[in-house]
Amino acid sequence: MEKIRHFNIPVFMPEMACPQSCIYCNQSVVTSVSSIPDSNHVQTIVEAHLKTIPRKTGTIIEIAFFGGNFTGISEDMQKAYLEVASRYKKNNMVDGIRISTRPDFIDAGSLDLLLKYGVTSIELGVQSMDDEVLKRSGRGYVTATVEKAAQLIRSYGFELGMQMMPGLPGDSEDASVATAHAIVRCGASTTRIYPLLVIKDTPLENMYKKGLYKPLTISQAVETTKKLLIIFLKAGVRVLKMGLHPAPDLINQKRLVAGPFHPCFAELVLTSYWADLFSKLTSEPNKQISMTVNPSDINHAIGYKAANKKELLKRFKKVTFKTDDALKKYHYHVDYSF
Ligand code: SF4
Repeated sequence: MEKIRHFNIPVFMPEMACPQSCIYCNQSVVTSVSSIPDSNHVQTIVEAHLKTIPRKTGTIIEIAFFGGNFTGISEDMQKAYLEVASRYKKNNMVDGIRISTRPDFIDAGSLDLLLKYGVTSIELGVQSMDDEVLKRSGRGYVTATVEKAAQLIRSYGFELGMQMMPGLPGDSEDASVATAHAIVRCGASTTRIYPLLVIKDTPLENMYKKGLYKPLTISQAVETTKKLLIIFLKAGVRVLKMGLHPAPDLINQKRLVAGPFHPCFAELVLTSYWADLFSKLTSEPNKQISMTVNPSDINHAIGYKAANKKELLKRFKKVTFKTDDALKKYHYHVDYSF
């Protein structure tokens, strides 16, 4: 079976005139309008990326308008951006156009426009499917809003993505698990899991400093995200990202106050996932084992900083890893020898 490779051409949209007050958001940063890309700049970004992406069978290239509430910007601006993107799609130079937005910025009018310009995927920043968590986070909508938006998006035939944010105020592991199940029920094809971080100059920072909010630890965030990953894997929902990767200036300028940030967060989750699989093997210190996995799993099976291999070496005489394309992702085969 041929392997499909996805390439996104990211065009970062700043949030503009956002009417909400999500408690984890630094409005002064996100409402800055100084860096709105104009449509010419979008073309420059796309051209630059296309030069680096091999256009061959088995590659899917998408232009992705990320980081903003796309359907919240003026219709004229949406059209200007989409004119550029749709030209590349019509000329078969890209396969799809993705946008991200808030669930309460979805209606038939906005979807008609996106459909007209050939948008293929819509990602909703859902964050939680618990009304109390949404309320305490200042998101400004309820779960019924999300369900309605998801249903409408799917009725138009768009691919639906839904992002979630474990660790919001009032959230718990059970509530995050329930959110993942709700995302599956809504018919999402993709998801992104961003455990909540405390950013400077936000209401959440004040809550944190007053002891009114306690962020997840890294190990709690890894454990919860692993449970969510398993739910999504079983349901066939593609997990596109785990863990937020703040822009370098966020870290350099010390905007990150607290929370489960790790530059290799996804690796930690996948290492833990594989550790659970290997924990089911019966220890046999006199034997050596050879583990075979899909090539895309090899690093995670061995583990972050070889954690899983080191653990297995405590239980077996010798441990080796090899790859086989024929093995399904997240599966392994083990051979024992003396
Ligand atoms: S996170 Fe919330 S407050 Fe911040 S820009 Fe997005 S919707 Fe607006």
